[in-house]
Amino acid sequence: MPDNQVTQTEVPKTTSPEETWREVLASLQARVGREGFETWLAPTRCVSMSAGSVVVEVPNPFAADWIAQHYLSDIRTVLAALTGRDCSVSFRASPVHESGLSAATGAQRLRSSVITEPVPAGRLQPRYTFESFIVGEANRFACAAARNVAAQPGRSFNPLFIYGGVGLGKTHLLHAIGNEALRLHTNLRVLYTAAETLFVELIQAIERNTRIQFKNKYRGLDLLLLDDVHYLVGKERLQEEVFHIFNTLHDASSQVVFTSDRPAIDIPTIEERLASRLGSGLVVDIQPPDLETRVAILKQKAQLEQVQLPDDTATYIATRVRTSIRALEGALVRLVAMASLDSRPLTVQLAEVALRDIVPAEQPLDHRAVVALVAKEFDIQESDIRGSIRTKQVVLARQVAMYLMRTVLQLSLKQIGAFIGGKDHTTVIHAIEKLERLQVTDPNIGSTIRTLKSRLLSSRAP
Ligand code: ADP
Ligand code: MG
Repeated sequence: MPDNQVTQTEVPKTTSPEETWREVLASLQARVGREGFETWLAPTRCVSMSAGSVVVEVPNPFAADWIAQHYLSDIRTVLAALTGRDCSVSFRASPVHESGLSAATGAQRLRSSVITEPVPAGRLQPRYTFESFIVGEANRFACAAARNVAAQPGRSFNPLFIYGGVGLGKTHLLHAIGNEALRLHTNLRVLYTAAETLFVELIQAIERNTRIQFKNKYRGLDLLLLDDVHYLVGKERLQEEVFHIFNTLHDASSQVVFTSDRPAIDIPTIEERLASRLGSGLVVDIQPPDLETRVAILKQKAQLEQVQLPDDTATYIATRVRTSIRALEGALVRLVAMASLDSRPLTVQLAEVALRDIVPAEQPLDHRAVVALVAKEFDIQESDIRGSIRTKQVVLARQVAMYLMRTVLQLSLKQIGAFIGGKDHTTVIHAIEKLERLQVTDPNIGSTIRTLKSRLLSSRAP
């Protein structure tokens, strides 16, 4: 991986790390909400800042996890703007708390591997490989496409567009492609970068009049892995540059892989401009993992870190934390940290305590929740869904509700019929079959169903 692809310009340091950090905090205050700022960021301090690497001390290990997960990209953006370079940031629990954990066996190790040490633009994260990526129904197609691209960059699906919710493994897959492609084709020129980093670089290039270098950095690549392109929404200038880079690479048959937290169709400008090129490419999505996959992921993480995670505890965590793999890892980290405080085993009881604060009190997920959600989405009354009005909009909403009751709540046809105002089971079967068909033939319905499913699941747990 050519590290020299990374433009890092040294600016003369005139301020101390503490002063710089104070400025960072001042900017962050404006970017993140007041409550989040007061709870998490205000109590931090910078312990060192050198050679593009910043170490921040935070009150406890849990705060370290939280800040890394929620504020890292804001912190890096502000730091880059202030220091003129892309910094890696790591978080360290203050010594008082750390000593409490000093007897920890797996806790520190696990934490150190889970807080993703941010990857400077251009570098690949060696830990994110296909081997460490657990495949289930929800990500099988995306993973297969990614493997294909890694085996034959520029020759199979170009561009590859991977989309899915937060914490579902998009960044992991992107690095896996890069790592695998380099393993198979040693001289490949590969670059990983996030759209946000590209933005910072572009601003710097404009300010410093170094647009040519900026362009050249991308021009000669064989494989560009561009993460989080939803960041481009509303940033006209950045879009221009990205399309310029993309077109140049595409014309040279270089491979481009994009990730996004939403389908291209929901990013209209991107959709429009990529449309002609997407014909030669492939769009794949990653859905929230099913229970089995979540358990497998937890077991793999535990094994990697050599902690004993009993099956029932893994299943318990996987049942409570459903929609993000990052949240799943966070839950495990917290459990391991608690267990290691007084060398307790990872029991279900301890997991209950560990998850109490981080998983919101469960809202009942039942047929009423489905009716309420669907009524809101279709802008009709809840009573209409249970009633007998037969306008097109209401009929569709009713069918969507039945479909969700079946696929998300796994209710019986009879129960669904009863909850939907006394319909018989053939009506329910008809609704489910129709929705299955429509999802394939009508992208809007497909996207609505996906959104509703993930909203239903996330209303229950992170
Ligand atoms: P995204 O980019 O979609 O927000 P990430 O790729 O950063 O998500 O994934 C979040 C965390 O979950 C990472 O630590 C990643 O290694 C882990 N992860 C995601 N998907 C999988 C998977 N299928 N198998 C193992 N770990 C996974
Ligand atoms: Mg990501």
